[in-house]
Amino acid sequence: MMRAPDFRYYAARSVRDAAAALEDGGNAAMLLAGGTDLVPNMKRRTQTPALVIGLRGIGELRGVRAGGGGGGGGGGRRAGGLTLGACTTLAEVAAAPAVGRRYRALALAAGQVATPQLRNMGTLGGNLCLDTRCTYYDQSEEWRRAINWCMKAPGSNGGHACGTPDGASLCWVATSSPRCWAVSSTDTAPALIALGATVTLARVAGRRRLPLEKLYRDDGMAYLTREPGEILTAVHLPAAAGWRSTYWKLRRRGSFDFPVLGVAAAVRFATGGAVADARVVLGAVASRPLVVPEAATLAGSRLTDEAIEPVAEAAAALATPLDNTDFALAWRKKMVRHYVAGALRELRDTPS
Ligand SMILES: Cc1cc2nc3c(=O)[nH]c(=O)nc-3n(C[C@H](O)[C@H](O)[C@H](O)COP(=O)(O)OP(=O)(O)OC[C@H]3O[C@@H](n4cnc5c(N)ncnc54)[C@H](O)[C@@H]3O)c2cc1C
Repeated sequence: MMRAPDFRYYAARSVRDAAAALEDGGNAAMLLAGGTDLVPNMKRRTQTPALVIGLRGIGELRGVRAGGGGGGGGGGRRAGGLTLGACTTLAEVAAAPAVGRRYRALALAAGQVATPQLRNMGTLGGNLCLDTRCTYYDQSEEWRRAINWCMKAPGSNGGHACGTPDGASLCWVATSSPRCWAVSSTDTAPALIALGATVTLARVAGRRRLPLEKLYRDDGMAYLTREPGEILTAVHLPAAAGWRSTYWKLRRRGSFDFPVLGVAAAVRFATGGAVADARVVLGAVASRPLVVPEAATLAGSRLTDEAIEPVAEAAAALATPLDNTDFALAWRKKMVRHYVAGALRELRDTPS
């Protein structure tokens, strides 16, 4: 059995309290929500914070409320939409009637994360900040020492276990690459981006709001643009009138598994039946969720098979699955086209 290393635990009582503790703790501190990602990582010694700041006791971080979905500064019921606290569990998100009715892609994505037990513990904020994953990283300390570490987890002595000083600067997935290719594996991020979500980040000095898409960076190590002292406090969804959305997940076991491909699609239809607006976002095929720009070209056309095909092809061309997760990468790339086409056809054929 793997045990977590020693650490100090601080149960924060408010966002301000947590932000102050995070700022004081500096690089040694990490936030813990449900702990379903951080605790296994601590046991594997891939993340070893000396100070863990618990968010679970902060009431204002939980729950689903109407309103707050407008951009930038705003709020209240007048802005329409929905606000979800970052510590709302995935089970609560999946079961919330307001989510299921109007933001189906999110309900489907949250409801397919891991297992019922993990969804009862795991939170929306933790899912959005989930560490990137890789075959060469999500392993025990002994396993990683045996391959002389990698650049994402260079080992406590800087990665010189086998006497080769290069261990700490190497990406085993692409050995000549200067960057890390670990994969973004969050199910809810593609769905929320397709739905036009924004997020609030809070720190001691204040709060800021940004489109969720901008929270991510195409880098397996520095995969979030979140500043070190920031806490993700809430997710805001705009009003969903006229939109239909879905989420298709490819994984080995239907009962529970991380995605090897996630496809979120959202389409708004005009009165005559043509597409007014469309978004497609891919998960698990890069170090961040990928927006497929070609989806926007559907606007003005009917969602025929002929109109869907070029978007599905463009999505497959954009995806860069690598050999660092389950299944053969060529097959995963091929599946992007089928999943994107299938998701868009579902939105066309399913009455609202
Ligand atoms: C067997 C297994 C299967 C899984 N399958 C899936 C899957 O299919 N799909 C999937 O998406 N995930 C999966 N997961 C990962 C995980 O369970 C979920 O992503 C979960 O939502 C993480 O949420 P959490 O609250 O437990 O995060 P935590 O473990 O508490 O935190 C995760 C990360 O986010 C940071 N963090 C947490 N909350 C905040 C916040 N409010 N602000 C800023 N940073 C924060 C933490 O510091 C940490 O780095 C799986 C995990 C396991 C163990």
